[in-house]
Amino acid sequence: MPKLVLATGNTNKVRELQDLLAGLPFTVVTVIDYPGLMMPVEDQPTFAGNAALKSEAVSKFCGEMALADDSGLEVDALGGRPGVYSARYAGEEGNYAANNRLLLRELAGLSPEQRQARFVCAIAITIPGDQTYIIEENCSGVIAEEPKGEGGFGYDPLFIYEPVGLTFAEMSAHEKNKVSHRGRALVKARELLGKKLVF
Ligand code: IMP
Repeated sequence: MPKLVLATGNTNKVRELQDLLAGLPFTVVTVIDYPGLMMPVEDQPTFAGNAALKSEAVSKFCGEMALADDSGLEVDALGGRPGVYSARYAGEEGNYAANNRLLLRELAGLSPEQRQARFVCAIAITIPGDQTYIIEENCSGVIAEEPKGEGGFGYDPLFIYEPVGLTFAEMSAHEKNKVSHRGRALVKARELLGKKLVF
């Protein structure tokens, strides 16, 4: 079976991506299976740019097909911030609690109508000998006034998915994946992989 290397070491993302890619005829591995592989600095101004940077670097190093996700939260009242800086919004990379505290502080006193936001996910797939394909999807929601729920990761406890009135952290992984930015992008990624590859 051909290999598909997930260009992320983030265990939360790996778990979601593996669920969403289940059943495809690939052996799904991650960068953790390639010691010595250095991930590039994510210095691009867009999610798509950063995703392509990662999938291309990983595909080149491993000589395999690679899939990278770059994602984040855009808040209207903050002019789209934290955006591509979502993982290090409060300074320290991946400190979810500090990021959520800062977000609540920045939105203090704003009404639900003023707390509109969206998660964005860009998926880049680099196929050796072919090219890099980009897919981008989003999911709209409202930033809560306090964290709720134990599931998910990152901003999930603050992100209310309005059609069900729950935060992503209160929804099951299955329910979240059906509607999330990453879930929607991965549906399209699966279609693309199916079309591009002859097994
Ligand atoms: P990346 O690893 O550079 O793509 O950073 C993505 C950051 O955006 C994560 O660290 C989270 O803070 C946030 N993020 C992306 N997707 C999600 C999600 O599905 N739920 C909650 N936070 C997310």
